[in-house]
Amino acid sequence: MKHTFSIIDLIFPEKCPFCGRMTGAQELDSAGSCKKCREELITYRSADELPHEALEKVLKLYVPMRYSGKAKKAMLRYKFGQEEWLCEAFSRIMHNYLSTNEAYEDIDLITCVPVSPKRFAVRGYDQSRLIARKLSEYSGRPFRDLLKRNDNSKKAAFTSRENFAERASEKRFEAADPELSLFGSRVLLVDDIFTTGSTLNECAGILLGRGAMYVNAACMMSGRQDIYDAPLEETA
Ligand SMILES: [Zn+2]
Repeated sequence: MKHTFSIIDLIFPEKCPFCGRMTGAQELDSAGSCKKCREELITYRSADELPHEALEKVLKLYVPMRYSGKAKKAMLRYKFGQEEWLCEAFSRIMHNYLSTNEAYEDIDLITCVPVSPKRFAVRGYDQSRLIARKLSEYSGRPFRDLLKRNDNSKKAAFTSRENFAERASEKRFEAADPELSLFGSRVLLVDDIFTTGSTLNECAGILLGRGAMYVNAACMMSGRQDIYDAPLEETA
């Protein structure tokens, strides 16, 4: 959609969350960022092109942004700088990407990789959950809290063999409801940053164990070279 400045934009200009430039409210409403940042920061690729050998439990992976530069800074502000308002921009970007890839067509419900209660108490919000709820709002697909993250009680370093064994046996995630049954459901799992894939695998594994037909994953960003350094066909 071509953006034109309206009188509303002149009266209520808004800041691009990534570069701070004043831009039209309409532009941010539809795309989440100014045009320049969109071209620079957002890497719309088809989910089929994203390599994801690291994700044995996940069927499809969606990652709209590279974890670097202004995007990375914005994510750090969102997670650690108390800038909850950035949720809107991230959600718009993800929603546009998911819509483009028809990612809502083959899922029944949306959930998220949650933060732990301790982290939530400090931050006051759950960054991936906010995005997942917005995606639900935009798409009409229901959101459900399916998982919970346990507080890692033993933060001690891996100083001894016993300590290591104890850490390994500690479950980071579990089903939010002990009775959870997802028989035949197709789930979209939302997370912020895709790094090793261990979190997504662990969470998807729990959902599959509860009867989900399959789990797709939508991560806001990744710094993985195997995702972003492969040449795009369009740029050839
Ligand atoms: Zn910008």
